[in-house]
Amino acid sequence: MQNQKVVVIGGGAAGMTAALEAAAKGLEVSLVEKAAEIGGWAYNYCCKATDKCAKCSACLVPQAKMHVEKNPLITVFCGSEVTGVSGQSGDYRVKVKKDQEVSDLEAGAIIVATGFKPFDAARKGEFGYAVEKNVITGLELEQALNEKGSLVRAFGDVKNIGFIQCVGSRDLGLGNNYCSKVCCMYALKLARLIRTELPDAELTIFYMDFQTFGKGFDDFVKTAKEDEKIQFIRGIPSKIFGFPYDRLTVRYANSLTGEALEDKFDLMVLQAAITPGEDTVQLSSVLGIELDEHGFFKVDAANPVATKQAGVFIAGTCQSPKDIPQSMEQAKAAASAAIKYLA
Ligand SMILES: Cc1cc2nc3c(=O)[nH]c(=O)nc-3n(C[C@H](O)[C@H](O)[C@H](O)COP(=O)(O)OP(=O)(O)OC[C@H]3O[C@@H](n4cnc5c(N)ncnc54)[C@H](O)[C@@H]3O)c2cc1C
Ligand code: SF4
Ligand code: SF4
Repeated sequence: MQNQKVVVIGGGAAGMTAALEAAAKGLEVSLVEKAAEIGGWAYNYCCKATDKCAKCSACLVPQAKMHVEKNPLITVFCGSEVTGVSGQSGDYRVKVKKDQEVSDLEAGAIIVATGFKPFDAARKGEFGYAVEKNVITGLELEQALNEKGSLVRAFGDVKNIGFIQCVGSRDLGLGNNYCSKVCCMYALKLARLIRTELPDAELTIFYMDFQTFGKGFDDFVKTAKEDEKIQFIRGIPSKIFGFPYDRLTVRYANSLTGEALEDKFDLMVLQAAITPGEDTVQLSSVLGIELDEHGFFKVDAANPVATKQAGVFIAGTCQSPKDIPQSMEQAKAAASAAIKYLA
């Protein structure tokens, strides 16, 4: 008889959903989270509703956290990391370290949901991230809007705001030739939210081309393009300077004329790529599972949650870039596969 316990590694949108799904089928779950609390990146995203819900799914994450914390079948180990796995398929012992203490958790199946790491925007030195004030990332914008509830409260009287898409994604020079899939959609949702707060603000979105993922994307693009205060410029800027005092100058090429232009902005938002989580290499070796060519966990071609190790399943952005609903869907599928494996 297989051990009827599941260990989920990572307590973001995917890990929490996998834990809830397994517990709903009566399995005991240990949820191991490295950070001080569960929730992952999306726990701190802002609500993008204007006159109506923008269907960004951010509110699903605090809801999932509340359900996990109330569920008697789920034990959460925060501030904890997996340092080793022994035993055999169907009867694993997962070594978990918290501070200096190490304990063993029993697991019939393991679900890995360790999420992503944002691309370090400072690697694109031309954009002045971490050097110029008011050059921020999309994650920092999400968190600031969530915390302060207003762009003005977070960044002052900003009137000209620019977004640069694909920072660190689709960039052969960096070896990241894949698309991060979520940033076109959330840039448009954030643009609409900002225009609701600041009707006179001018927004510019610098892009290569828009990737249409998810329902309703085309309607969003259409509405944004009808707004004459949102300008779309096809082309990624070559430089951001902190000039004049307290403002930013952005140099870019007009893709129609090839002309080099410069415009002034108050705030520039870099849409940094979704890249493999920082413990991916260590965990692949501890768990004996493979990585794909980009460094995300590799799944079986015939079963998109299974790994080459029986009883070890994958969910969420640790496998590839995804939005919250897609991460949760894959987590449900991973939990179902684990339940089936243990049956
Ligand atoms: C700027 C930005 C904005 C976005 N906006 C939206 C949006 O509006 N709507 C939307 O649907 N999607 C959005 N997304 C995508 C969304 O962030 C992801 O879909 C979601 O966070 C994926 O959840 P996850 O559980 O896979 O990963 P994560 O959120 O990364 O969670 C992984 C968890 O695992 C933990 N962990 C990592 N390593 C270990 C380890 N070794 N041991 C234990 N725990 C570990 C982490 O601490 C974290 O809690 C956005 C993404 C970005 C970059
Ligand atoms: S889905 Fe997004 S926009 Fe809609 S209520 Fe939830 S957080 Fe707000
Ligand atoms: S989703 Fe859009 S911004 Fe993000 S990498 Fe793909 S094309 Fe670029």
